[in-house]
This record gives sequence, structure tokens and C-alpha cells, in this order.
Amino acid sequence: MSELIQMLRLIRQYRRASQLSIEALQVVQRQRLEALVAHAQRHSPFHRDRLAGVQPERLELAQLPTMDKTTLMERFDEIVTDPALRLADLEAFMAAPGNQGRRYRGHVLIRTSGTSGRSVVVAYGAAAFNHVRAVNLARGSMVDASGSRILQRALDPKALEIACVLMDGGFAPSHANFLHQPAASRWFIKVDRISLRLPIDSIVERLNAGQPQILFAYPSVLEQLVEEARAGRLDILHHERARVVSLSEPLSPHVRALTAEAFGAPVFDLYGAGECLPIARSCEHGHGLHINLDMVALEIVDDHNQPVPSGQFGSRVLITNLFNPTLPLIRYQLQDIAAITHEPCPCGSALPRLLAVRGRSDELIWLEHPAGGRRSLHPYLVLETMLGIEGVLDWRLVQREPRRLRLDLVLADGAQASLAEAHAALQAELDALLPGGSVVLETRPVARIPVDPSSGKVKRVVPLSAARRP
Ligand SMILES: [Zn+2]
Repeated sequence: MSELIQMLRLIRQYRRASQLSIEALQVVQRQRLEALVAHAQRHSPFHRDRLAGVQPERLELAQLPTMDKTTLMERFDEIVTDPALRLADLEAFMAAPGNQGRRYRGHVLIRTSGTSGRSVVVAYGAAAFNHVRAVNLARGSMVDASGSRILQRALDPKALEIACVLMDGGFAPSHANFLHQPAASRWFIKVDRISLRLPIDSIVERLNAGQPQILFAYPSVLEQLVEEARAGRLDILHHERARVVSLSEPLSPHVRALTAEAFGAPVFDLYGAGECLPIARSCEHGHGLHINLDMVALEIVDDHNQPVPSGQFGSRVLITNLFNPTLPLIRYQLQDIAAITHEPCPCGSALPRLLAVRGRSDELIWLEHPAGGRRSLHPYLVLETMLGIEGVLDWRLVQREPRRLRLDLVLADGAQASLAEAHAALQAELDALLPGGSVVLETRPVARIPVDPSSGKVKRVVPLSAARRP
């Protein structure tokens, strides 16, 4: 019960904060930033050196050094503020069978897909995760957390709020968001987590049976569900509070409009990263995404980490995660292209908005279905499969034709047998996605994965060019 009260308190705190003026929100943000920096200086050996001489109450964020994924992974043990967290232990824990979705000493672990650049491990403290839940419940009126609804839910435990169709298993950020609910959240929401790996018929059947009020899915999945709805096979979202929430991938205006039309429900968009789950969310009015100023300090910068003016697109985003002192990420680089606008929003929220987050949609491979239509191959599925094969040091998946893929593998010395194992494992996933044998996979050993000359990063998933995509 105390957890329930604490949760209600947090929800109320975030709901009230979203009605504050921009000046009042900036005060909250500033207090959290100062507390974070002070905590990092005291408990993180990495930040102690890096932020030496910085006085929290006088700091200017833009004067602090930036950090990136490589630094995070190479110096994880020094960055983390809990000495009981060691990267090698976390990786061993995540690799062990049966640990998928489990917490490590109370911490929530996340691994990003690393399809461009490297895969990153993030640890959230239990308290930090309660903030993630609370802000999700409080903002955008996603879920009815009123007292009468809580009572109704207690009386009718079957009432389903949310169904999410996501990459399951492993430590995928979008899945972790739904998996690690504090026990008290059952008073607010009941969630059905549906695996993306299921055949589309089974997904449709589960959704029809559950009749959720809110549907969470990646835009690539929404596209498929729109087809099912149009064909009359999928019939959901008739509730007065019905809504669709898109996450993980950029939502194009086209897919947004198709989805709203097919389901007759408003479509919301979420932007987050494994390193900072709830960065921004769209409102009912839909233009841009409101930044959770009290969860994250967000900067838009150019190639040299210099700020770009409001309304202009930068070449990356810097985030400072204000709610997870376990792993202080201060001016941490995300390779997303976005802009901030301070123009007032018709919804009345003072939270500034993030415009078009770009830079992740080119990572998706679309496979042509032999019976028509297409299915997306989620990069996380490939990552999880490759992580499961010993001797695979690095990998790249290249789409050659709408139904033909090539897997390049960098193998450890003496691990030649891993080639056949990796091939069989990925082929099995592909056969589960599309009728057996319809996707042809060729697997070859390579000495290294080349760097993409246009981005300077390793691209582990290389789809067909836009013109050739199914
Ligand atoms: Zn708005």
C-alpha cells in the first residue's frame, strides 16, 4: 500500500509539473541538474575527475564536457555510482539463459540495439524506474489514473488497458518499459505484452480477444496492423479513451494518418532512448513532441557540440538524464537529428517541443511477403540472435533483394563452426517471420565490418535503398 501511495504521489507530482510555467519547470530542472552533478562528483570516479572544480550551483551545462557511447562502455565501471555494478557482471548476467527480463540486484538493465555504432548497456535504479512509470501515467493522459477508475479496476481485474506489440525477450528498451512495472502499477494499468515474433494472425487474434483501450507498437508494426484492420480482421479500440501510441522508430505523417483513419483513434508518438527512456511525447495536437524537461536536459548541437538556434536542426542531441543517479549521463551524445521549438502549443503545455526526430528509420529491413504485403525485421531480433552465438565477434546484415539477405560475420580464432550455427539461428528466426524458406540467407566470414563512409559509423543493418524497398 505504501508503494501505491508513493506511486500516486509521483504521478501527481508529474501531472502538476506539466501544468507549470516554463520558468517554474526550468527551476525544477535546474535543481535536479545540480543534485545530479553533486551526486556524480561524490560517487562516480569518472565524473569526479571530469567535473573537478565545477560548482553545482554555479555550473553552466553548455560548459561541461560531453560523453558518448564508446566512453560509456569503456569506462562504465567508473561512471556508475554503485560500486556493486560491474559491466562484466552485468553482461554475464544478461547472457545467462533464464535471466531475460529479470532485474539485477534490483536494477533494471537495458541493452540498446547498436545497429549503428555500438550496443550500450544501461542500468536504472529501482527508484528511477518508478519515475519512468509515473511520468508515463501522468503525461498525455495515457491512462485514467483517477480514484474512481482505480476502484473500478480493483473490482474488475480483467479490464485491459494496454496491449503492446513489441520485440520481446532480452533487454530491449521498449520492452523493458512495460516489463518492469512496480507492483503498485497494477492499480492503474493492466498490460498485455504481445511478442512481435508471433505470426501476424496470432497477434491479431490476441488483440481482438483482449480489446485493449490503448495500443502500443512500432510504426513498422502499425503499418501491418492497419492492413489487418482495413481487411476487417482486426477490430479494436472502440473505447472512448482509445488511442494508439507509436514508439522506438520515427513515426511518419503518412503512417500516423493511416493509423488514425484505420482505428478512428488519436495517435501519439513517443521519443526515448535506452539511456533515457521518456524523453518526449506528442500531445493530442500532434505537432512535435513535448520534452519532459524535469526528466531530461536536452540540447541540440552541431558536429562540434555547439548549440544550434531554436527551430533549427542540429546534427546530434545531447541528453542529461536527470532521474537516474545510478548511471550519471551528463551531456551524452545521441545520434538523432532534431530541433527544439518554444512556440506555444495549442494544448496549453509549456513544455517545449522536439520537432521531427530523424536518423533511425533507415535501420529497418522490410521483407516482401510471398502472399503480398511486407514484414519488418526488427534489428533487435538480429542482435539478440547474434549475441546468443559464441565466437561471433561482430556482424552485419545486408539486404540484397526484397527476400534475400547476406550475413557477414567476424569470428573469433578457431570459431569457424559458429558460422553454421549463426546461419541456422537467424534462418530459423526468418522462417518464423515469413513462410519457411521464403527468405534466402547467405552467410560468410569477413575480417572486419567496414565503417559507412557517409556516417563514419558501423552500420550493422543495411536495408535496400529506399527505391528498391518492398
Ligand atoms: Zn501540445
